Amino acid sequence: MQAVRGMHDTLPGDAPGWRRLEHTVQSVLRSYCYREIRFPIIEKTELFSRSIGAGTDIVNKEMYTFQDRNGEFLTLRPEGTAGCVRALIQHGLIHSGPQKVWYQGPMFRHERPQKGRQRQFHQVGAEAFGIESPDIDAELILVCARIWNALGINDVCLELNSLGSYSARQHYRNLLIEYLSDHRDQLDSDSVRRLETNPLRILDSKNPEMQTLISGAPSLLDSIDDESAEHFSVLRGLLDANSVDYEINPRLVRGLDYYNRTVFEWITDRLGAQGTICAGGRYDDLVAQVGGKPTPGVGFAMGLERILELMEPGQEEQDTDTPRFYQVMAGAEAVKSGSLLAERLRDEMPGLKLMLHCGGGSFKSQLRKADKSGAEYALILGDEEVAKNTVQIKPLRKDSGQYEVSRDKLVDEITRLMGE
Ligand code: ATP
Ligand code: MG
Repeated sequence: MQAVRGMHDTLPGDAPGWRRLEHTVQSVLRSYCYREIRFPIIEKTELFSRSIGAGTDIVNKEMYTFQDRNGEFLTLRPEGTAGCVRALIQHGLIHSGPQKVWYQGPMFRHERPQKGRQRQFHQVGAEAFGIESPDIDAELILVCARIWNALGINDVCLELNSLGSYSARQHYRNLLIEYLSDHRDQLDSDSVRRLETNPLRILDSKNPEMQTLISGAPSLLDSIDDESAEHFSVLRGLLDANSVDYEINPRLVRGLDYYNRTVFEWITDRLGAQGTICAGGRYDDLVAQVGGKPTPGVGFAMGLERILELMEPGQEEQDTDTPRFYQVMAGAEAVKSGSLLAERLRDEMPGLKLMLHCGGGSFKSQLRKADKSGAEYALILGDEEVAKNTVQIKPLRKDSGQYEVSRDKLVDEITRLMGE
């Protein structure tokens, strides 16, 4: 049996890198006092079609949608914002003052699998609700910058744009339709379809042959309303004050329909075509669309697989799963007594990485396994040691010889060895 195409296993050797990534991201988010929220992987299909937008790629062709046994249409979440908003509304949190939350977990999109593009992938997202002013947009961008810094990633750049208000976007939409209709012969088939359904999406096309046409399109920024322009200018001032570099990309639109005003992407050129590691923006109408009272929102989601690709593997990662001590036992009494001993050591020494040999065998074969495990010391227990109430300690990585320690001195001796 094989895993479903586009869905990957994380094997034990890769898990420490994932843990370092997740731990770093979480501790930065917590330092900004964002609180964790968890919500189901499956939601009603309607939640996504209403929020992400019926004309988007995600809703049109990427969702894993099925009918359950009651005939209800359900979808594996393709992103987190919709479920997050649904949960906050349902539990009455969204209208009880500003909320800053984060989530993480698997997302599902039926895309063509390639490097940096899976059908199950993982995101960490952060969202802030109830704040209209651009200080919160700036904070979210600063959170990202701090995360890259903490992970040692220094070759990402920030692209920034403002989509303006929804009504300004309607005006721009007309300008864009006019421009694209004049160049209809240069549109690919996707874009011809989108010209009717969702023309702004054309700006987001990944087709290299479309890029010249796109770069000649009218600029969104020229069409935005005065209030949004002011919002954008304050945001830029905050980023400048914090020495965050960015590039204005007037053709940056996002793959989801719910954005207005600020949109941004963090991009690297080290990952080929899948260069966006994080994307976000403002979505002031989303809460109302999902059924809550109008509440502004802004957030981002980062793709963990792509970020992992950019991280240098740290030595501590290799070491985190390696035992320091490997306990071997031969003889019925030794197995029983050894099990008690190992449990007592774990009680008394939290954090001790002790592998207990299971499965029997001769001392010789057990010690071979101890060596292979990467442990630094073997703790050896035979019936003779049980009778004497002692343990033999054998250094596995240095030449010094094996020695005997009485059980009541063992914790002290292990503490000394761990401090070496
Ligand atoms: P892309 O333009 O690469 O398709 P998107 O605009 O669809 O991305 P978002 O929905 O904004 O992406 O998701 C935020 C981030 O999640 C992306 O920047 C990317 O890092 C990651 N991501 C999105 N889709 C995938 C996928 N299929 N596989 C791996 N990572 C993904
Ligand atoms: Mg996409």
